[in-house]
Amino acid sequence: MEEAPLHLVIVPTPGMGHLIPLIEFAKRLVLHHNFAVTFIIPNDGSPMKLQKQLFSSLSLSIYSIFLPPVSFDDLSEDAKIETRIILSLTRSLHLLRDSFKVLAQSKRVVAFVADVFGTDAFDIAKEFGVQPYLFIATNVMGLSLSFELPKLDQMFSCEYRDLPEPIKLPGCVPLRGSDVPDPLQHRQDFAYRQTLEICKKYPSAAGIIVNSFMELENDTFEALMEVGRGLPAFYPVGPLTKCVSTSEIEGSEDCLRWLDEQPSGSVLYVCFGSGGTLSHEQINELAVGLEISGQRFLWVVKNPVDKAANAAYFDSKESGKDPSAFLPHGFLERTRDIGLVVPNWASQVQVLSHGSTGGFMTHCGWNSVLESIVNGVPLIAWPLYAEQKMNATMLTDGLKVALRVQHKEDGVVGRQDIAKYAKELIEGDEGQLLRTGMKKLRDSAKLTLCPHGSSTKSLAKLAEIWKNQKLC
Ligand code: UDP
Repeated sequence: MEEAPLHLVIVPTPGMGHLIPLIEFAKRLVLHHNFAVTFIIPNDGSPMKLQKQLFSSLSLSIYSIFLPPVSFDDLSEDAKIETRIILSLTRSLHLLRDSFKVLAQSKRVVAFVADVFGTDAFDIAKEFGVQPYLFIATNVMGLSLSFELPKLDQMFSCEYRDLPEPIKLPGCVPLRGSDVPDPLQHRQDFAYRQTLEICKKYPSAAGIIVNSFMELENDTFEALMEVGRGLPAFYPVGPLTKCVSTSEIEGSEDCLRWLDEQPSGSVLYVCFGSGGTLSHEQINELAVGLEISGQRFLWVVKNPVDKAANAAYFDSKESGKDPSAFLPHGFLERTRDIGLVVPNWASQVQVLSHGSTGGFMTHCGWNSVLESIVNGVPLIAWPLYAEQKMNATMLTDGLKVALRVQHKEDGVVGRQDIAKYAKELIEGDEGQLLRTGMKKLRDSAKLTLCPHGSSTKSLAKLAEIWKNQKLC
């Protein structure tokens, strides 16, 4: 009788940005290395429709267990998303352990993979004799910051945003304190203290898998791998980007038909990820800016939210109002010939791979960045939350493939500036330089995923280690 495949258990923490690359990672292990994978998914209490849809379209060797929702009744309204993400895991640990135990006893489980906020689950794997691995859904620069964090915490007592000099992370472009990721900006906050404790556990991983690639962040990788640092082995396996599902293809026909009618490279795609939201005033400014730029645009609009920039994070596909209710009066009619407004969600991968798309105004979520890289689309970086400001620094100062928006003193990005960025990116000389830079990155992304490319080899090495793992 044929032996059952070796099994991997993956625990994603909430957020489509975490789940999407982990699913792509699982698909490759099933397809190219003959593993089976079970996801155990902590539930933050938000509707999980989109997550369930994603799993329903997958191969038979990828299974999902959705844990019951945890309660956040005791949290204040202004609790950070990172607090909710972390607690959705820690409050599910007992249930996670029960599910893991069943799997460990019935399948040939060879490895456990947790994502960036999931290290508290490492002990469960170890209890059952399974090696825990860490999956970083962002970049190596973020990983480098995580390793430096305990030292930075000791070195400084002020908030990072008040530091007079940028922070020098090994092998990275200088990082301004104000661009340090959000959960680290308030040292007294639960999210800061928890993130610090989580980062201290990273070195205890058996290996660290990163959704980036050597050629993209070579200096940072090399700095991290320097002999003597005593860190776990790194496996850069990216870019792992989303494959479009059949239901997405069916839902995006209008959008693609509109793109088909536009000239090549002429459209600015505007989208702030699954969770990004803008204030009412900022949406108004963006609308007017796009209109006066005279550029063609495809804008995925979410409802305005005045108090937070990530209001749709736990609720990404559930909150679409009719945009005409909040866009400037007459905007849709006036821009009918040059623009398309899509409420809430578009099939981004399809938009970015369409020949008419010439630029992307993005919040710099790492999946969006990688999707732009694989399609060679230059960026206007408009970071909103999480580690997006750090990503924007890398894209503008390091890779030189993005223009970065500047905020006025009141925090708003002004209409004239928006028009200037849009025009420059699509038509200007600087836009052309950024496009050339992106096309080079696109070519190296293609190479790294070839059969002999560095990310393909890195994944194969990991699969080999797991295949040779002794089963308990
Ligand atoms: N996405 C999409 N359509 C949208 C918004 C987002 O398909 O209208 C996808 C996008 O392609 C990416 C993911 O959702 O794969 C967003 O991940 P990212 O890391 O960019 O940002 P996050 O949503 O985690 O902030």
